[in-house]
Amino acid sequence: MQPLIDITLRLIMRGREKVFDSMIHPLAALIRFHELQVDAFTPVGSKLPQEALRLQQAMSPTLQQYYPRLFQRYGSTAVVPLRRGICTGCHVRHPAGASKLAEGVSQCQNCNRLVYDADEAFELCVG
Ligand SMILES: [Zn+2]
Repeated sequence: MQPLIDITLRLIMRGREKVFDSMIHPLAALIRFHELQVDAFTPVGSKLPQEALRLQQAMSPTLQQYYPRLFQRYGSTAVVPLRRGICTGCHVRHPAGASKLAEGVSQCQNCNRLVYDADEAFELCVG
């Protein structure tokens, strides 16, 4: 028989997981999703592991639509941070007022990669 504390803890964790899923930021979801794709060398369109599916759902519909094409084209550099306003994929300046695909994510106007502000992403990761 399992100790009661384990069962209670598991229930709490399951509850948290649900809250976490609905609160996950599209940028955080995109970055983690991209990491999984790169790590697993998952071919676009193949069956995704459970975590990737959850992250994909947390990404905005626009990101879900754009990502596969860009991953196919650029692989690990499909999603890159901006450094001092410069796309680290193609090294062209990214206009500050560029329209966003999702909160914190826009598209490089030169190479079309998904770009994000590194400071913003850091804040999301550390809370
Ligand atoms: Zn670029």
